[in-house]
Amino acid sequence: MLTEDTIAAISTPVGHSGIGIVRLSGKDSIKITDKIFVSPKKKSLKQTPSHRIIYGHIINLNKEIIDEVLVSVMKAPRTYTKEDVVEINCHGGPVPIRRILELTLKAGARLAEPGEFTRRAFLNGRIDLTRAEAVLDIINALTDQGQKAAVEQLRGKLAKKIETLREKLIKLTAFVEAYIDFPEEDVELPSLKEMKKMALKIQKFLRQLIESSQYGMILREGLKTAIIGRPNVGKSSLLNALLEQDKAIVTETPGTTRDVIEDYLNIQGIPVKIMDTAGIREVKDIAEKEGVKRSLMAMKNADLVLTILDGSEDLHDTDRELIGKCNQKNTILVINKTDLPQKIRLSEIHSGKKSGRQVVRISAIKKRGLNELKDKIVETALKGKSFDSMGVVTNIRHVHALKKALASVNSFIEGITKKTYPEFLAVELRDTLDVIGEIQGITTPEDILNKIFSDFCIGK
Ligand code: GDP
Repeated sequence: MLTEDTIAAISTPVGHSGIGIVRLSGKDSIKITDKIFVSPKKKSLKQTPSHRIIYGHIINLNKEIIDEVLVSVMKAPRTYTKEDVVEINCHGGPVPIRRILELTLKAGARLAEPGEFTRRAFLNGRIDLTRAEAVLDIINALTDQGQKAAVEQLRGKLAKKIETLREKLIKLTAFVEAYIDFPEEDVELPSLKEMKKMALKIQKFLRQLIESSQYGMILREGLKTAIIGRPNVGKSSLLNALLEQDKAIVTETPGTTRDVIEDYLNIQGIPVKIMDTAGIREVKDIAEKEGVKRSLMAMKNADLVLTILDGSEDLHDTDRELIGKCNQKNTILVINKTDLPQKIRLSEIHSGKKSGRQVVRISAIKKRGLNELKDKIVETALKGKSFDSMGVVTNIRHVHALKKALASVNSFIEGITKKTYPEFLAVELRDTLDVIGEIQGITTPEDILNKIFSDFCIGK
């Protein structure tokens, strides 16, 4: 990827809108725009002070007016990419925007690749990789909480934590290396015991970051939730009741054999993604055996399982089978139809091995107990801990790297305890530094960078 050339792209969604923006970045952005822009006073953009908006018209080679526009001129380095940036605000129809983009390309710009503006911001050192990734997360956020976490990440909350971690590691590595280089000499160095103490602090810090990812990943990806139970216990009634209360965020995933519709409920800021593997929506009147099979399938990949039981009936064998297969930690037993005379015996659910299960009683039809259910969902999702969205780790790439770093730090600590050669200890620390550098984008391999930025849209 070249950064010497000037790139251009449409930065607003395709379609009809109030305004559309064609954005340019690179050293010739202003020169290129000057070729296709005229202001009433015939002033060139080059003479315009930075960070001004100029009124005028975009013209083609035959001097025909293409559109009436406002042009923002932002000169390096105080810009998104740290390069000269021009934004042409035109009318938001697909035709004027496309024609203006084509003119910028004819005048010398190159069409930007996906995420290339943000990549330049990263390559030019304005933001580290965690902040570049946050841009994508802001665009794709599912709930207010998720967006807040991404904004905090863009503001550098996570970057700062990772940088602190890196500084601590560098200091420790320097001590260990000095220990190797000057074992006999009279250099004032901390003892191995003190180095171990430093490593234990780093270990704690890493663990906290990894722990925060439980919440962070849920914010970013959604809490995968399965609603299971035998036919007619009220699964779809519950889903509808929840959807009615919390306006669902419906996303469509095209490209599959049949477009999959995923519903996200926004429960106290947590995006709860209802998985329809159990076929709650389409499949009705299926045999009980088939229902169980589907339920078990849905359970497999879920972060949270809501097992629905019909309170107006005795427990069926099928219910018992399902309850037996549920993992206690991530399951909530939901007793539905509490508006009817109750026959279900709770003592059976609570007895023996099954004790300590979380139970909520609701009536999906009468919409009773739903708030209590939501509280339980959040409590189970966060495993009883409270997190704020400040500087939490939301990205699976970061989580993997932090876990790798933790493994190296653990080996370091073990090495000190077992009095391993300091040379080996230094290797563990170097490895840790490398993976931390990968999070920040310092030592990230090119192919991973390509993957990260290819997820962006063109124009961002
Ligand atoms: P599913 O097969 O598990 O999805 O069950 P449905 O949601 O289709 O519900 C099966 C039947 O139970 C329907 O006739 C619902 O109206 C009824 N039902 C669902 N929830 C309740 C409830 O809370 N109270 C009562 N009385 N009936 C309910």
